[in-house]
Amino acid sequence: MTVTRFAPSPTGHIHVGNLRTALMNFLIARKAGGTFILRIDDTDPERSREDFVDAIKEDLEWLGLAWDRIERQSHRLDRYAEAADRLRVAGRLYEAFETPTELDLKRKKQLNMGRPPVYDRAALALSEAERDRLRAERGPGVWRFRLDRERIGWEDGILGPVSIDAASVSDPVLIRGDGQVLYTMASVVDDIEMGVTHVVRGSDHVTNTATQIQIIEALGGRAPAFAHHSLLTGAQGDALSKRLGTLSLRDLRAQGVEPMALLSLMARLGSADPVELRGSIDELVEGFDLSRFGAAPTKFDANDLFPLTAHVLQARPYAEVAGAIAALGVPEALAPRFWEVARENITTLNDLGPWWELCRDGAEPVIDDADRDFVAQALAMLPEGPLDEESWGAWTAEVKAATGRKGRALFMPLRLALTGQSHGPDMRRLLPLLQRIRAKE
Ligand code: GLU
Repeated sequence: MTVTRFAPSPTGHIHVGNLRTALMNFLIARKAGGTFILRIDDTDPERSREDFVDAIKEDLEWLGLAWDRIERQSHRLDRYAEAADRLRVAGRLYEAFETPTELDLKRKKQLNMGRPPVYDRAALALSEAERDRLRAERGPGVWRFRLDRERIGWEDGILGPVSIDAASVSDPVLIRGDGQVLYTMASVVDDIEMGVTHVVRGSDHVTNTATQIQIIEALGGRAPAFAHHSLLTGAQGDALSKRLGTLSLRDLRAQGVEPMALLSLMARLGSADPVELRGSIDELVEGFDLSRFGAAPTKFDANDLFPLTAHVLQARPYAEVAGAIAALGVPEALAPRFWEVARENITTLNDLGPWWELCRDGAEPVIDDADRDFVAQALAMLPEGPLDEESWGAWTAEVKAATGRKGRALFMPLRLALTGQSHGPDMRRLLPLLQRIRAKE
């Protein structure tokens, strides 16, 4: 049984980088008919916020990435305490009392001597009495996991074979002095107890994976299959990390990006397969193959989302946008025709508003001096009675006969006069929607 999880910390809104992680784990689970867990990594009570938990759920729901189970680390603290006890009994956890300043000094000394800044394990050599004294002086220490200093290797689902020398890594702190269990430990306990079989996450976690493999083994668990996807960069190859805050899923949603546009892009970006707009999540699942992804940094350009969004909307039936159109105040009798006309001229649903305003209120006409008489003459010839899809053809044929103008010289001044812009919907279909055309005469 395949079990995957997406494990955000609710310390902010999730962004496209998080989505990459969420989506890969989701697709692996769905493809295998397995379970996808949403795990809220909220062991840090100061930085975790309930509104961010709600926002994460809302963002995933918007995208249709339904989870089968939700777990919260803050509800599982007793499990972590129990696991910590087992590690203590096994001699794998030790208490250390160095202050951050002392650790910093040690690191600087090591670097000066050309050595890697790895924690020197001074605390391992403390006697019982020394520990008691330090605890009395400084309060409870942190608990570090004693790594076995050997090479740790795994076959990574994206990176291929990875091998890390544990001697080059500091013994990780698993529990803080105030008793707070840190992610490195909590995640391992969860992965074991929840039967997680596959973990996909960003390549910034590679060193964590090495230490976590040893912690899993020390707890008697079996390491899941790990895969580390490359980090996203900007379109220019620039680091995206600083800008990710502006690429939150809710910002993209507010900008009108459509879920399937975003999912189609993110399910392929960084893989050997081309980005193709998919109509449904099922289609994405079918076409997904983790082994197609590469280790190279992946360029992400939010602008790519807009043409995809426009394509999604062009195929969208009226029934699915009826609510959004009614919300603009479009009368029901006009709404289906308004959608047919407008949808080919929008990038996102946010663009519908201005088109409706044009239909409802008319536009400030744009008339070249050279066309002034022509436009006045043409408008005076507008047919009486209600306008329909025949009206434009009949009207412009008459104007053509009366003025001798044809082609662009005939049509463009009329479009500009009626819509105030040189591009837009087919005039034949737009004309009947213009509510105030006679007022504009
Ligand atoms: N909460 C961790 C993070 O957001 C989860 C990492 C993991 O997938 O193990 O980075």
